Amino acid sequence: MKAIVIGAGMGGLSAGIALQRIGWDVEVYEQVVENKPVGAAISLWPNGVKCLNYLGLEKQIAELGGPMETMAYRDGFTGETMTEFSLWPIVEQAGQRPYPVSRAELQSMLMNELGTEHIRLGMRMVDIADDGDAVTATFADGSTATGDILIGADGARSRTRDHVLGEPVERRYAGYVNFNGLVDIDETIAPATQWTTYVGDGKRVSLMPVAGSRFYFFFDVPLPAGLDYDRSAAKNVLAEYFSGWAPQVHKLIGMLDPFAVNRVEIFDIDPFDNWVKGRVALLGDAGHNTTPDIGQGGCSAMEDAVVLAIALQTNTLGVEDALVRYRDRRTARAGELVLRARKRSDVTHAKDPDVTRAWYDELRTEDGTGIIRGIVSNIVGNPLG
Ligand SMILES: Cc1cc2nc3c(=O)[nH]c(=O)nc-3n(C[C@H](O)[C@H](O)[C@H](O)COP(=O)(O)OP(=O)(O)OC[C@H]3O[C@@H](n4cnc5c(N)ncnc54)[C@H](O)[C@@H]3O)c2cc1C
Repeated sequence: MKAIVIGAGMGGLSAGIALQRIGWDVEVYEQVVENKPVGAAISLWPNGVKCLNYLGLEKQIAELGGPMETMAYRDGFTGETMTEFSLWPIVEQAGQRPYPVSRAELQSMLMNELGTEHIRLGMRMVDIADDGDAVTATFADGSTATGDILIGADGARSRTRDHVLGEPVERRYAGYVNFNGLVDIDETIAPATQWTTYVGDGKRVSLMPVAGSRFYFFFDVPLPAGLDYDRSAAKNVLAEYFSGWAPQVHKLIGMLDPFAVNRVEIFDIDPFDNWVKGRVALLGDAGHNTTPDIGQGGCSAMEDAVVLAIALQTNTLGVEDALVRYRDRRTARAGELVLRARKRSDVTHAKDPDVTRAWYDELRTEDGTGIIRGIVSNIVGNPLG
């Protein structure tokens, strides 16, 4: 059996590996010529890591993961600690550590595991034809690829989604911009083994350790969509947005290479259940584009990959039936994570400033129990238990 996978992001590559492991031939087609992920790093929560463990990548992912032992919120203006606690209860409850990882390193690991000979770069899928016996993708250069199924792992602006739904869907702007990158660890900004977040005025500055003594940093700023941005001015722009903030935040801004700072406007899509049409199925952001506020988009894509392979391996009424069973096991959970992230995003980014101020007050009385309960509740319900 042969699968055509559109998109070599973390969803498409995980799906490709999962399908290879059940004996499928896999061809992954990716539109970009050089597979460089947008964004610097990602936090893989235990549900995502478990999926990679299941795919045989336990040792590799542990080597890429940063040593994140504790979590803290600090007042963005004064630098004062609002709450600080161990993350170990999450590990105990979930059965696996979370790993913040560099996206480029995660991407390389997944590509190598799949086998680069199975990935065709520079191939933009423009059309899909499903004749009931096979499905054929057509690419911008006029070439085609035919398989038993086609997995649309083509991200937030999925072309496959247009095919499955019969029309494009509107993405919803979440109301904020995320600036992110990697920087050497400096313990005067935040401890080396801590996920530290400075908050104030609906903005945040967050640092997470990844392997190689680096922090994954990100700045969130509520802003209108579509503003002009001069990349070379990143430091001045951030210094202005965070004017009056604690010296640690300005030290971080001072350390940045402006050309290594990514700027991303954050969108999501209302959850929908229609992920499958005939021999074509959506996976990852194509099916459930989320804001990153609970760090679950990529983890959820990995969950899709595992469930897809299990559905194709264990059901024998044909691939179309197995794809529907995959869909039925995934849409409710993935949709719920999108809505949870949206809710979290609104509180974090001061959609209602009173609610956000109340959250800051809560953080000052928090011993970690409530935050850990929230994180664990995102992990519970994952397909690997
Ligand atoms: C700022 C930010 C921070 C985030 N942090 C986290 C986090 O901490 N934890 C977490 O789990 N998730 C996080 N996410 C979400 C995560 O990045 C996504 O959920 C994940 O990348 C989805 O993977 P994917 O493979 O579905 O899509 P993508 O990674 O977007 O990959 C899709 C691929 O398809 C290709 N493609 C698109 N169209 C075509 C076409 N027509 N033909 C061929 N190829 C095509 C694209 O070039 C791309 O390579 C974050 C997202 C953002 C924006």
